[in-house]
Amino acid sequence: MPTNKPIPTPTTEYERQYWQRVANGDVCIAHCQACDHVYHPPRRYCPDCYSDEWEFKSIAGTGTVYGYTSIHRPTQRFASDAPIVSAIITLDEGPRLMGRVACESEAIAAGRRVCLDTPKLSSDNVRLTFKLLPK
Ligand SMILES: [Zn+2]
Repeated sequence: MPTNKPIPTPTTEYERQYWQRVANGDVCIAHCQACDHVYHPPRRYCPDCYSDEWEFKSIAGTGTVYGYTSIHRPTQRFASDAPIVSAIITLDEGPRLMGRVACESEAIAAGRRVCLDTPKLSSDNVRLTFKLLPK
């Protein structure tokens, strides 16, 4: 279903490839083939060794809440989604990324385990959503 909500606008070829993969249900990070470092978001050079020899690596989809916030009064186009729980997730692979957590504001806490709960996304709905795993 098309959305009137703003979506990310890729500014580089790497971002375009990343969001296309996400839209196809393949959430991924970058893996440096020279030094084995993994990072996110993808960029031309590895931030650890500056090699440009890297590839996309699919993630398992599990991680730990590093930090979070609850947005009770979002901008008008997201008003129907309120309250929105937005979190920084430390993926089990190491890198951190931001996404929504589908839960009540009171249920989330730093250290909670989460997994991706994102059905196949379309190119006009690319919001990563996680769900809390049982304690
Ligand atoms: Zn590297």
